[in-house]
Amino acid sequence: MLLKLSGEVFGGGKVGVDPDTVRGMAEQIADARGEVEIAIVVGGGNFFRGAELSENGMDRRRADYMGMLGTVMNCLALQDFLEQAGVSTRVQSAIHMEQVAEPYIPLRAIRHMQKGRVVIFGAGTGLPYFSTDTVAAQRALEIGADEVLMAKSGVDGVYTADPKKDPAARKYEHLTYDEALLNDIRVMDQTAMTMCKDNGLSMMVFGMEGQGNVTQALLGERIGTTVTL
Ligand code: UDP
Repeated sequence: MLLKLSGEVFGGGKVGVDPDTVRGMAEQIADARGEVEIAIVVGGGNFFRGAELSENGMDRRRADYMGMLGTVMNCLALQDFLEQAGVSTRVQSAIHMEQVAEPYIPLRAIRHMQKGRVVIFGAGTGLPYFSTDTVAAQRALEIGADEVLMAKSGVDGVYTADPKKDPAARKYEHLTYDEALLNDIRVMDQTAMTMCKDNGLSMMVFGMEGQGNVTQALLGERIGTTVTL
């Protein structure tokens, strides 16, 4: 399984890392270990988003590198709490930084998972103008994951409208990529969705807040919205 954790999952809604939130996440991942091979793509929106910094006057490319470096800090926090929970881990970074992470080597990532290690992918693609959603789709395809699991904060799936604003909003149990793309439903960004669609990779969007939700998702339970071809 390829689990995508966005930056908001790490920050508990704030800038930086909220240790209690990350510990809770790590314990849930630990509960699924042994049952399923797990790789995780980590976002960085709790530190920096390149597009937002560039709106405030920074060069987009440099700002994107700041965004990517932010994801690595989240990776280290998650690694720490996973190791404390007894899970063996490796962080692989798309930007070389040997003291803190291995380089991204897909065959080695697969080998780690076969040995029961959880692999955490950081630094996005290593390239500006991408998002970590796209990385989730790409890494899932490259390591042969069965599904991408998108953990969301504050919402438990994909809805017909924003459930916080529209009481009539209805949750989808299932969507196709065509429906999502045609109706501009932002399950993940369009580049990522197109990549999943073109390669027949399915995805589940679910809420991380419920008791044991992350564990259940990793074990293949249908607790959110499934998106398929
Ligand atoms: N980023 C990038 N290339 C990538 C992945 C990420 O430039 O391949 C930068 C980009 O600036 C992005 C930031 O890293 O805004 C953090 O990633 P993202 O916004 O996807 O994190 P999330 O929304 O999942 O917290």
